[in-house]
Amino acid sequence: MKAYVDRDACISCGLCESLCPDVFELDDEGISVVIVDEVPEDSEDCAVEAQEQCPTNAITVED
Ligand code: SF4
Repeated sequence: MKAYVDRDACISCGLCESLCPDVFELDDEGISVVIVDEVPEDSEDCAVEAQEQCPTNAITVED
């Protein structure tokens, strides 16, 4: 599974990092970045949850 963040859509709420810290991290500008090439298996559920919960639909996860 891969995860992507649309930087232009991210509003720096920090939710994805809270839900799934092994995949998402806020960078120096407060924008979420994906810190892994491949989402670890044990983080797949939280990555999907972050996609569903992101208030601006900035996150895409796909197999
Ligand atoms: S949940 Fe969405 S808006 Fe919030 S920090 Fe993550 S990508 Fe940005």
